[in-house]
Amino acid sequence: MTQIHGVGIGLGVAAGPVARMAAPLPAPADEPSTIGAEAEAARAREAVHAVARELEARGAQAGGAAQDVLEAQAMMAEDPTLESEITTRLEQGKTAEWAVADAFATFRDQLTAVGGYLGERAADLDDVAQRVIARLRGVPAPGVPDPGHPFVLVATDLAPADTALLDLDQVLALVTSDGGPTSHTAILAREKGIVAVVGAAQAAGLRDGETVVVDAAAGAVVQDPSDAEVADAHRRAAERAAAATAPLTPGALADGTAVPLLANLGSPAGATEAIELGAEGVGLFRTEFLFLSSADAPTVAEQRDAYQRLLEAFRGRKVVVRALDAGADKPLAFLNDAHEENPALGLRGLRALRASEDILREQLTALAEADAAVAATGEAADLWVMAPMVATVEETRYFTTLAREFGIRTAGVMVEVPSSALLADHVMRVADFASIGTNDLTQYTLAADRLLGSVASYQDPWHPAVLRLIREVGTAGAAHGKPVGICGEAAADPLLAVVLVGLGATSLSMAPAALADVRASLAQHGLDDARRIAQAALEAEDADSARAAARAVAATSSL
Ligand code: PEP
Ligand code: MG
Repeated sequence: MTQIHGVGIGLGVAAGPVARMAAPLPAPADEPSTIGAEAEAARAREAVHAVARELEARGAQAGGAAQDVLEAQAMMAEDPTLESEITTRLEQGKTAEWAVADAFATFRDQLTAVGGYLGERAADLDDVAQRVIARLRGVPAPGVPDPGHPFVLVATDLAPADTALLDLDQVLALVTSDGGPTSHTAILAREKGIVAVVGAAQAAGLRDGETVVVDAAAGAVVQDPSDAEVADAHRRAAERAAAATAPLTPGALADGTAVPLLANLGSPAGATEAIELGAEGVGLFRTEFLFLSSADAPTVAEQRDAYQRLLEAFRGRKVVVRALDAGADKPLAFLNDAHEENPALGLRGLRALRASEDILREQLTALAEADAAVAATGEAADLWVMAPMVATVEETRYFTTLAREFGIRTAGVMVEVPSSALLADHVMRVADFASIGTNDLTQYTLAADRLLGSVASYQDPWHPAVLRLIREVGTAGAAHGKPVGICGEAAADPLLAVVLVGLGATSLSMAPAALADVRASLAQHGLDDARRIAQAALEAEDADSARAAARAVAATSSL
């Protein structure tokens, strides 16, 4: 048995035979055109147009996030810059095939050089180019294999157009050698609940027909698994399926200790699904997601409408709204206009809001107004407001004082920077609550950009250095009698969720799709067990051994 490591998407597990994605088309040769520039231009235009329409049609068929991704691809295909790049090459006497390949490759290199989110879009561009060239050649576009039985799909990376229409009865799991946790493949796999491991460089060596176990929770692909390992994978898959249909009880440990399970949302539109999946409230409402494409700051009225819709959906329940978290992976044009070499260490989060305090004041005004409007028409929601990226006690005091000035009754901070975790005893004196953002806390503790595939292995919240910081916050919360929530991806890992409670977390917030797994896992252990499991993880020297130590102790306490 050997293991290949990558970034697991979601928590699923699956076992089955590998089927590899067909190899890309051979690159067009750089030969002179025999039909002239005008005729080549007409061919290129027809092919680009046809591919764009086909991508849109696939989007309409798939719906949801897939539709957005495919429509973005169709727009990319018809980007005027690309068109003029193609025309320039055709005027030099090249064939349409070569001109398309070369123009797209140039554009791709530009995106890759930018890196981060845009770099991860580069694979999307390759896919569009392949489709256009296939059309020009009159051959089918390379795509998903069809071996005639369920299979584990292995690819360099998957084009959004392919991911969107995967036949989920046939594709047991997805493994890619490229792609990071924020690539479109990952985003769509997450949305469709496909068991996936991305960025597994050694997956290039997997052969057609060999059996593998794909363990997304462990970020691993097991080659040549034993019968027992395959059976264990089937058992875990069945347990997950059962958890997904279990009754929607409130989150609690086996001894009855309540651990409210909340939803991470980026728009009020997600409220209904979150409630259907058993969310007891909202633990993180990412307000910046509402305005990612806005050039200007949103008005108070525009914001109030959105917040009001959210609060109405959660009357009688807790709703934690985060003030705009602009910068780094989520730049907002109206808050981040300066070029920064290291935007994750720059004027982001509360720092950016403080530099444009009017925008923060308007947001607090809109929140207070939405809260009052909902209360005036029935049962109110329990609105809590927190600031992102708080690094100091002084910032904690600044934000909570200002929020209270606007009538916000419960004002807290996100703990995402090691400095505020280390000073949690002071922070918790000032704030009404803390919510730990484990995504950024891990990034800053391990000094590894969370968007960068090459350092993705550091982005592991199981690292004992991260766990020790979380313990500081949990201990301070208990000492001051103040709630400590977790709202990073870590809360969605069922075993880590138990560890987090053992470290002092009083609520967990996650993507709604993860609620069922976490609910089932919490119900397996009492509070004393959770503390013992957490202690085992804390004492480990790295993330893998923390995970293994927690598993070993959990196996002795699980009901
Ligand atoms: C986090 O950093 O863990 C968090 C919840 O915030 P975001 O992922 O939006 O940065
Ligand atoms: Mg964060």
